[in-house]
Order: sequence, then structure tokens, then C-alpha cells
Amino acid sequence: MVESMPKNNQPIWRPPSMDVLLRSAEGLDLISVYGRKATTEELRVVLAECRKTGRGNAGNIFGSAALALARRRAKSIKTVYNLTGSVLHTNLGRAPLSDSAIAAMNVAGGFVNLEYDLDRGVRGERDNHIEGWLKRLTGAEAGIAVNNNAAAVLAVLNALSRGKEAIISRGELVEIGGSFRMPEVMARAGVKLREVGATNRTHLSDYENAISEKTGIIIRVRPSNFAIYGFTSSVPEKDLAALAHRHGLPFYDELGAGALLDLRRWGLPYERTVQEALHDGADVISFSGDKLLGGPQAGLIVGRKDLITKISKNPLKRAIRLDKTTMAALEATLALYDDEEKLADLLPTLRFLSRKEAEIREVAEELAAVVIPLAPEWRVSVAGCKSQIGSGALPVDVLESAAVVFESKDPSKKSVGRKLKRLASEFRELPTPIIGRIHEEKFWLDCRCLEGVSKIKSEINGLIFQ
Ligand SMILES: *Cc1c(COP(=O)(O)O)cnc(C)c1O
Repeated sequence: MVESMPKNNQPIWRPPSMDVLLRSAEGLDLISVYGRKATTEELRVVLAECRKTGRGNAGNIFGSAALALARRRAKSIKTVYNLTGSVLHTNLGRAPLSDSAIAAMNVAGGFVNLEYDLDRGVRGERDNHIEGWLKRLTGAEAGIAVNNNAAAVLAVLNALSRGKEAIISRGELVEIGGSFRMPEVMARAGVKLREVGATNRTHLSDYENAISEKTGIIIRVRPSNFAIYGFTSSVPEKDLAALAHRHGLPFYDELGAGALLDLRRWGLPYERTVQEALHDGADVISFSGDKLLGGPQAGLIVGRKDLITKISKNPLKRAIRLDKTTMAALEATLALYDDEEKLADLLPTLRFLSRKEAEIREVAEELAAVVIPLAPEWRVSVAGCKSQIGSGALPVDVLESAAVVFESKDPSKKSVGRKLKRLASEFRELPTPIIGRIHEEKFWLDCRCLEGVSKIKSEINGLIFQ
């Protein structure tokens, strides 16, 4: 710090020079941790701020720079507690991976035989790592994987129906969160949309009348994130498949969530499985890897060998193929399905979805006991609530669950909404953020995806809720 005394005896503040800062002991410490470039950049920002305010000494300059450097290096992607009540939360990374999938991603970080045939020492196929599993588990003739199901739709339509018409019911021209709109994806795939029927009712004759020499494919899209009730009718997949086959067309069943097993076995609602879709005559089926399957983000395409080969050879496939770590996680996830008895233990998605309310309530009681002493201004209780599967999977089916609920002690106050938002943000600011949800003027922490409170307890302690 350089200060000089002018005539009126007022010290003139001058910032320390960058050179001096960088050569000081603190400066060298920061450089050894964060490197010269980042340290210089952050010190420069702090110095500029000091010049503006005309204040600052070496101590607080280093303090501010160290804080800025720590923030700069903190990983943006971090673990959070998903207490939103939506298990496959698209904003929270959808399916949490199994231990074996995580271990496989770790292995795949180095050199791996991604496209190398170790037996013959020649180039191999990337999809071979998962195709065996897809065939075994679904009974399909062939299967491949791409980046996500949106990419799968693009690839299937482009490869099998480019320049031709794709027939689809008006009731299935869906928008799935995150700007996936079926009509727009179809346009980008280079197929012409041929919509038939009405929003609530479509008949076999509607499809039949639309078939011409311009038709390339018939599609059925599972409207995953909404349901239509009342005067509705749609054509069974079996009939659509038979119609398509009579005209020599492929029938594409776009399943969306994609269950490989009948989830009712674990007390969950019915969801059409890939095997059923095949049994009903679908020639191609696509579904997500990170929804009910419980794996990494991926789009899986299974079906007739000739069609899958055509999709594989399409130039688009190259642009949307899986990387090695995702491929490894997908292989490990599919392998878990080999033992259905252990699946609900080893696959977190299924474990969370199939948890019983009583078990969740026990955890909620334990969590409430942790937060009650810390939140004297709130009325904290444990209450029943409804979890969702999430990601548009089975949108109208809810699962009985239990939550820790924060209510204002003075709900008549106008400031309740603001206080709830502040509470939610305090939970989000924890080292491992806890994400809950505000609903009906209360803050809810749904404990479906919380297995035990010992870890979360040490994080919450020390927090004082206003
Ligand atoms: C979720 C979903 C998609 C999009 O899948 P992503 O894997 O998120 O790209 C497409 N179609 C249906 C019917 C879906 O449910």
C-alpha cells in the first residue's frame, strides 16, 4: 500500500501495483493454487473495483481475489438433493445412475475398445456393446443407441421416410418439455407431416384413407406428458401395424418413456413396454435411456434388422452417436436388467419409484426432527403428499409419498410468499443444495428420493432459517 502525504495532510490512496501483489507471499500462494493467469485476472478485477471506490488494502484485495478464484474454480455441476417429489426431474438430470453405471463411466474415461474388435484386432461397431443386451432384453432383431430420444425420432424418420409422408394422429402431435414438438421434429427430419383424425378421436379408416404412394411410414407417438379423457378413441397398435404391413410400410412406435419390464410388479402404474410394442407388430421402436429405463441420457432404437441397419448407415447417425462414457453407462444399466430380482435394489430410479409410503414417512420424520429446532419461525410437520414419476412418464399417475412441510406461523401475512421463497433459496444455497417445492403457500421436502438423513443432517446443521 503506497500512501503519501500531500500538503493538506490528507493521505492520497493509491492502489498497490499488480507487480507488487503478484510477488508478495499471498500473491505467490494464490498463483500456486490457481495459476498465474487466473490470479492476475481476478486481482485485476478487484483492483479496478478498488480504484472506483478509492479504498482497499492488500489484505482485503487478496481476500476478495481468493474468494473470486474459489468461486471461479467451484464446479458448476454439483450434487443436489432432489426433494421435489418428481423422481425423473428433467432439470435435475433425470435418472440417477446406478453404482455400476457410474463405475463403468469411470473406466471408459481412458482408452477403451469403443470401436475395436478385440478378438480380431480390427475396427468394431460402437453399438455392439449394447446391441446384445437390447436384443436379449426386448426380443428385437437389432438395436442401436443415439444421444437422446429426440435424436432417435429424427434419425428414424430421416432414414426411413425422408421426402415422404409420415402419417400420424392429430392427438399425438405433442410437445414434450424443452421445445421438442413432434411436428417440428418431423419437418427437420425431412418428412411431410400427414395428420389424420381429430385431437380426441382417430379411427383406422382415417389412417387407411391417408395412405398413398407418397406415404413413407406410419407413426404412433405415446403422448407421454398429458392425457385426454372422455370421448376419445385411438387405434390399437396391432391394427396400425397390420395396416402398415398390408401396404408394405414400416410402423414406428415412439414410446417415449420406454419400460423394459411391467412396472406393476413393483406396485407402479401400467406403462406399455418395449416388448409389448414389438409383440403388437412395431417395426421400429424408440425410447429414452434416462426415463423409466434409469440409465444415462440416450435414445434407444430397436426393431427389424434391415430398418435398424438403414438408420445406422444414415449420415445423421454419425452426428448423434453416443460417446464412450455414455455407452459404458448404458451397457452397465442394461446389464442390471438381467436379474429382475435385484433390479429394484440396484437401479436407483426403480428403487425410488417403488418405495413405500411408510418407509418414506420414516425418513421424513427423521428429517423433520433435524430441522424443527433450527426453524422456530416455521410450523414444521410431516404430511402425506404425492410424488410424480416425472419427465412426462405416466403424467397422470401419482405415487403416495411423505414430506417435511414448512408453514408460516402467521399465514395471513402478506409476506408469506416472499418468506417461502427465501426459505427455498436458503436450502438451495447449502453446500449440497436441497431442492424442494413451494405449493399451496407451503414449502415441501418430499423424501421419496432421500435414503437416510445422516449426511443431509450435517449439511443442514448450522443453517438458521428466518
Ligand atoms: C421424453 C420423450 C421424448 C424426448 O426424449 P428425450 O430422451 O428427452 O430426447 C420424445 N418423445 C416422447 C413420447 C417422450 O416421452
